[in-house]
Amino acid sequence: MQMSAVYVITGGTRGIGAGVARRLAAVPGRALILAYRGNHERAQQLVAELDRPDSPVRAHPCDVGDPAQVAALFKAADALGPLAGLVNSAGVLERQCTFEQIDADRWGRILGVNVIGLAMCCREAVTRMRDSHLPDRAIVNVSSKAADLGAPGEYVDYAASKAAVDTLTRGLALEVARYGIRVTSVRPGIIDTEIHAAGGEPGRAQRLGPDQPLGRAGTVADVAGAVAWLLSPDAAFVTGTTLDVTGGR
Ligand code: NAP
Repeated sequence: MQMSAVYVITGGTRGIGAGVARRLAAVPGRALILAYRGNHERAQQLVAELDRPDSPVRAHPCDVGDPAQVAALFKAADALGPLAGLVNSAGVLERQCTFEQIDADRWGRILGVNVIGLAMCCREAVTRMRDSHLPDRAIVNVSSKAADLGAPGEYVDYAASKAAVDTLTRGLALEVARYGIRVTSVRPGIIDTEIHAAGGEPGRAQRLGPDQPLGRAGTVADVAGAVAWLLSPDAAFVTGTTLDVTGGR
């Protein structure tokens, strides 16, 4: 049995984050806090599915774009034990469009959640992990292959936000390596989740899946496996890097 400790997963109640939660709920002696924006029903369903007396799972409403709510989220995590890991899966995109159609307000919303919100979560986590005696402490940021591809004609703002996540990951990893904290990111390709509906194309994963080198869209389990490995002691010598989970895209 591992020492009791906590994993915080932002965007942990749907899509990739929920897949990560299902995977981490099986790690003995780990409590989970699943942060979500507003879909209470989905959050409570997942808590009911995963909560166990020896591995408690709690849902916590938190808009990561609001630093005060982020601070409250990590205070709630403190009540469950020392912080062993943070998975930043909360992320947003808006309707597919051209670059010219993206106004300053939309840039602000996308960067506010995907970059500043993620950065504030990393900051709260590092504050706690720096002086911790837990042997394994890690942050995994969910970036996107869009950071490489740029998402032209779809959402250049989103792609740029993910490139910022990769750079933040690299810089933060090098800054906190001396404390034994590892920081990595995963870059999923086309994964079958509800995020594509927010872009105006719910069937995007079905449309593009067959064109991927491995011949299909990814599943949340494909990404969750990579995240769980990056958090685990098996990845103890891995930091400052990004891992593509794209089926070869
Ligand atoms: P999703 O199915 O739309 O789920 C998004 C999750 O994030 C939900 O739990 C949602 O909470 C939460 N969330 C959204 N905005 C938030 C905010 N401001 N504060 C806190 N939580 C917030 O998305 P997904 O496809 O799993 O995407 C997860 C991550 O993977 C994102 O960072 C995304 O950019 C990245 N990604 C996805 C793909 C893909 O093809 N699916 C590819 C590359 C990268 P509510 O349920 O309460 O709204």
